[in-house]
Amino acid sequence: MKIIGVGRNYVEHAKELGNEVPSEPVLFLMPDSAILRKNDAFYYPSFSEDVHHELELVVKICRVGKNIQQKFAYKYYEEIGLGIDFTARDLQSQAKKKGLPWSIAKGFNGSLPISFFRPKQDFDLDNIDLVLKKNGETVQHGNTKDMLFSIDQIIEYCSKFFTLKKGDLIYTGTPSGVGPVQIGDRLEGFLNDEKLLDFEVR
Ligand code: MG
Repeated sequence: MKIIGVGRNYVEHAKELGNEVPSEPVLFLMPDSAILRKNDAFYYPSFSEDVHHELELVVKICRVGKNIQQKFAYKYYEEIGLGIDFTARDLQSQAKKKGLPWSIAKGFNGSLPISFFRPKQDFDLDNIDLVLKKNGETVQHGNTKDMLFSIDQIIEYCSKFFTLKKGDLIYTGTPSGVGPVQIGDRLEGFLNDEKLLDFEVR
């Protein structure tokens, strides 16, 4: 199983990090050892001093496909969930400066909390609210209507390069409001009004 991340998929987030708005999806890969399930605690890694939360809609692929056209992409996923793409921003900034890959800044152990999944038909995919609360205060509030590339566009683009397989996950990018977490923080994530994530940073 592989995990594909999409970077800079919300204009306001691209701007807040001083990045250009991309003309094609920005993709990166993460290992399955990064996944953190069942609201297990996130352990702050010793190699970073600036870990940021990025709340993201996650799509679970349900069948094998490559070179999928956008108009058929809906057949390749049945469920969506909520995830956090924890990012060691200090390591990522160093890598970006040197033009090096982000792998360790994104894909370290436990960097990808994931909720349980919900049937996609329960949602209007172009209008889903994503909310992240840190210690009870809203720190991120986005909506999928502001995604630069829709789920179906992302699947078309990804599947040109990577054969998608059942169980693969796509983290579709974060809205603005990313920021640091600290040991002791409690994070709660909501898909529309339903709380799907609730865990601590230790
Ligand atoms: Mg992200």
